[in-house]
Amino acid sequence: MSLSVDQKALIEGAIRDIPDFPKPGIIFKDITTLLNHAEAFGALMAHLKTRYEGYGLDYVAGIDARGFIFGAALAQMLGVGFVPIRKKGKLPYTTVSEKYSLEYGFDEVEVHIDAFGPEKGAKVLLIDDLIATGGTAKAAASLIEKLGAHCVEACFIIGLEFLPGIDSLTSLTPVYTVIGVD
Ligand code: AMP
Repeated sequence: MSLSVDQKALIEGAIRDIPDFPKPGIIFKDITTLLNHAEAFGALMAHLKTRYEGYGLDYVAGIDARGFIFGAALAQMLGVGFVPIRKKGKLPYTTVSEKYSLEYGFDEVEVHIDAFGPEKGAKVLLIDDLIATGGTAKAAASLIEKLGAHCVEACFIIGLEFLPGIDSLTSLTPVYTVIGVD
């Protein structure tokens, strides 16, 4: 089910732009104002529930850290488990990790080795607040597949359409963005 024009405007209007954060030239999309707006947050989550309830998901996996907020709420609404995909060094049990390149150097995401259950082929929805270059999400999607699960879609509240991230991630998994920024 697609969002009505009014619902989309409500959600979009609740996201705050912070120019030059964390460095000059970046417009930071602040979703704390969306979380703070019960009606807009509610409309977003109801939309995501409707979209994904027919997917037969086994898990929702959220990317550290804002993906945890949307992902955990959605997993509960769908009646499935939530899996945190974390930055390196935060998870206490045995992990599997995936490196990805940054502008300078690299970063790494990891997940618990047993996060997607004992059976292979668990159907997983990946979620984060925003896709920019797509580096983090590509590493997260690869990690899901590395553990023998299947990333059925990657969902973002905001997609920066002027960057190549969405196209690049589409080579690994279907991509859905609620609000596109061009
Ligand atoms: P990327 O790997 O380049 O797609 O970056 C995605 C991650 O960085 C997401 O977890 C976002 O939360 C964060 N991020 C990147 N650019 C922005 C931005 N302009 N506003 C808010 N968050 C951003």
